[in-house]
Amino acid sequence: KNIYLLFFCALPQWEEVSGYDEHMNTIRTYQVCNVFDSNQNNWVRTKYIRRRGAQRIHVEMKFSVRDCSSIPNVPGSCKETFNLYYYESDSDTATRTSPAWMENPWIKVDTIAADESFSQVDLGGRVMKINTEVRSFGPVSKNGFYLAFQDYGGCMSLIAVRVFYRKCPRIITNGALFQETLSGAESTSLVAARGVCIPNAEEVDVPIKLYCNGDGEWMVPIGRCMCKAGNEAVENGTVCRACPSGFFKPTQGDESCMQCPINSRTTSEGAINCVCRNGYYRTDSDPLQMPCTTVPSAPQTVISSVNETSVMLEWMPPRDSGGREDVVYNIICKSCGGGRGGCTRCGDNVQFLPRQLGLTKSRVYISDLLAHTQYTFEVQAVNGVSDQSPYSPQYASVNITTNQAAPSTVSIMHQVSRTVDSITLSWSQPDQPNGVILDYELQYYEKDQSEYNSTTIRSQTNTAVIRGLKSGSIYVFQVRARTVAGFGRYSGKLYFQTMTEEEYNTSIQEKLPLIIGSAAAGLVFLIALVVIIIVCNRRRGFDRGDSEYTDKLQHYTSGHMSPGMKIYIDPFTYEDPNEAVREFAKEIDISCVKIEQVIGAGEFGEVCSGNLKLPGKREMFVAIKTLKSGYTEKQRRDFLSEASIMGQFDHPNVIHLEGVVTKSSPVMIITEFMENGSLDTFLRQNDGQFTVIQLVGMLRGIASGMKYLADMNYVHRDLAARNILVNSNLVCKVSDFGLSRFLEDDTSDPTYTSALGGKIPIRWTAPEAIQYRKFTSASDVWSYGIVMWEVMSYGERPYWDMTNQDVINAIEQDYRLPPPMDCPNALHQLMLDCWQKDRNNRPKFSQIVNNLDKMIRNPNTLKAMTPLSSGVHLPLLDRSIPDFSTFSTVDEWLDAIKMGQYKENFANSDFSTFDVVSQMTMDDILRVGVTLAGHQKKILNSVQMMRAQMNQIQSVEV
Ligand code: AMP
Repeated sequence: KNIYLLFFCALPQWEEVSGYDEHMNTIRTYQVCNVFDSNQNNWVRTKYIRRRGAQRIHVEMKFSVRDCSSIPNVPGSCKETFNLYYYESDSDTATRTSPAWMENPWIKVDTIAADESFSQVDLGGRVMKINTEVRSFGPVSKNGFYLAFQDYGGCMSLIAVRVFYRKCPRIITNGALFQETLSGAESTSLVAARGVCIPNAEEVDVPIKLYCNGDGEWMVPIGRCMCKAGNEAVENGTVCRACPSGFFKPTQGDESCMQCPINSRTTSEGAINCVCRNGYYRTDSDPLQMPCTTVPSAPQTVISSVNETSVMLEWMPPRDSGGREDVVYNIICKSCGGGRGGCTRCGDNVQFLPRQLGLTKSRVYISDLLAHTQYTFEVQAVNGVSDQSPYSPQYASVNITTNQAAPSTVSIMHQVSRTVDSITLSWSQPDQPNGVILDYELQYYEKDQSEYNSTTIRSQTNTAVIRGLKSGSIYVFQVRARTVAGFGRYSGKLYFQTMTEEEYNTSIQEKLPLIIGSAAAGLVFLIALVVIIIVCNRRRGFDRGDSEYTDKLQHYTSGHMSPGMKIYIDPFTYEDPNEAVREFAKEIDISCVKIEQVIGAGEFGEVCSGNLKLPGKREMFVAIKTLKSGYTEKQRRDFLSEASIMGQFDHPNVIHLEGVVTKSSPVMIITEFMENGSLDTFLRQNDGQFTVIQLVGMLRGIASGMKYLADMNYVHRDLAARNILVNSNLVCKVSDFGLSRFLEDDTSDPTYTSALGGKIPIRWTAPEAIQYRKFTSASDVWSYGIVMWEVMSYGERPYWDMTNQDVINAIEQDYRLPPPMDCPNALHQLMLDCWQKDRNNRPKFSQIVNNLDKMIRNPNTLKAMTPLSSGVHLPLLDRSIPDFSTFSTVDEWLDAIKMGQYKENFANSDFSTFDVVSQMTMDDILRVGVTLAGHQKKILNSVQMMRAQMNQIQSVEV
């Protein structure tokens, strides 16, 4: 930038002269030429020049210098150079004498020499050769300065002086605006300037900078801005302009706006995407540049080929794929038989190969249809955007009628009874008889023999007695059904064992007391007990391999079949327990399961909560039991056995199995989720929070679940509040069908005490089950009584801190748990009924359910209570002590408790009414003269019982 036109102030040696430049233009110059005089010092200075912010000043000088050698007789002092100076000042204060004409105060910039000098002087026209030299100086900081030129003995003319500084201009580059910036003080200085993004651009890298160099050039760009999404760079990158309508730009960047893809449009300028037109969609993973797509049209020309009860369907892809490549097919199966004209969806048993939904190839094989039945199959075409369409997928349908077919496999067989040489078996009809069943064929052989030696018998009904078998031997059985279409396939192999002679004798002896009755019974029973113990011991003693079968076979020995009732099948009766899992538990694909958090520790691994989303079903909250890694094959089998058992049950008060994951790791059992966890903990956490009716409602649910299990011939063996789960509606469900903890020799859990033939939860188990492993639904009823007690006492530990052995002894001596605090008498009475020593006298679960239902219907029956001071445990009730109220005198009562010998002592000490006797203390009993410890205890217990019974009567009367 030029600064000034210069007006000079000169010492008189300099003269202002007119002349011509090389182009013969007239110019004015300052000249000096005193070469013949020595000691020249001739100065000329400019006017005051304002600095205007510049830090470095450039001076361009045009001048001509005469060549000394061209001047005849010139002295040696002749010069061909001159000096350039500057002087800084904040105001224009220079005069003819100040500053002094000398270096310091003036600052010398340089000595200037000519590139070309001229030798001829044309005094008339004065043609000169003109030199141009540029010098610069800085830093300058005052408001202005003067320049001066010093001649010291040359012949020269100063033609023009241009004074300027350098600056970098305002510029838009890299998406940012940089303001005008002056160069630095040194020629090598770089002055940094900050940029600001232009409108609709945003920073990509910060800081955004340029440097202005000494030549007034921008250099070293750092950082940049780019046009925002919906804007593109135009006019050489100096403007970010909104995308015009019909165009979009999804991201920040240098690229241009793109035209909206087919079937989409913009709603305004500056669009970052284009929205699909009506009826067209995009999936989440479709790129924005992709055209919007629509649902496919229906598949074309479905062809069916029926083979007995199977059909192969093939079709052509839809004419219009909707513009997508991800078309798949779903099959909807409707059976339209039944004569009423309507169609219903096919049941779960129809098989689709490779699958029913999401078929990628245009063919499917459908089997296990009913014979002689009309079906309609709809083949739907769906693609990635079908879900977004408000309309159901388009489909092509085909009607077929199946043909005759052999019956399907018999899947359930069980033993009805057995003797030493015979086994009575029963089985269910095949799920799909496919016609009238003419008969069944049963094939069997001894387990240790070859299958080729098998025997075959026919049966018109679905039961058969197989006779002539060896005692104590395991046989393998298979059955198949026959219709006019021929035989179905054989069922899987099942193992059943005939009785050994010992077992037979034992079973007879068990029944003997009933037959013989009275005195001899006790003796025979004792013998029988000894025999059983010996048998059990022996059985446990050898051949562990077989005990796995024989152990389970007990379930069937007393089974009575009620027609139409499903019977529980022990998974261990399968030759391959995996087959039981396949049969009773649905395999779930791991991709449908989402584990969320660990909620507990199971026996085999963690128990988690999570979600299960099965195709075509709503997502549900589930519990997931996992099998920890590093398991043995036996552990896997035991773990999954719980699923094989649970999978056979279907009742609102029995935990529901959703399925299993066995094809990936970890192996999982998935059940419905029970929000409130196990009942014992739940009650302890909510002590005293429920009404009696709520508690009875819970008990009713548990009894109902147990009735269902008992009807299925399933014996739980571990019914306890800890094994009941509670959901958010306070519905209680029976759970824990694992068997392993009874079998394993692990004593780490004190609840389960090792006993003859396996581990037993003593406090919950009926005496006959503890003593000789007689586990039946009646022993489950005993446990149910304990659960009632746990519930009514809000999770109190049965028998508190008594030892297991004390519990066994107390029960043996006919002591029973007293009513918990605030427990209605009717409920305690029901508990006592469940704890009848003779299991035949205990109520059945169906009676318990009816009983509880009655209480719920008539809540008044729940009002009578045994008053108790809170927190104090009543002693165990002695069930052998008769109710005093059935006697009219104290003497009669003493006789009944077999203490008749003290009648006189009582009468003499005035203990002759029940009122007085009921208040007796141990001291009183001593004072009366009862000295034997056993008798004291018997009388004291009877007195306490009398007191309890009196209270009961009083509260009933109230
Ligand atoms: P288990 O191995 O069956 O005794 O389960 C261990 C613990 O996991 C139980 O005590 C419950 O707290 C919890 N649990 C098991 N199954 C479920 C379920 N279906 N819903 C909620 N919690 C469960």
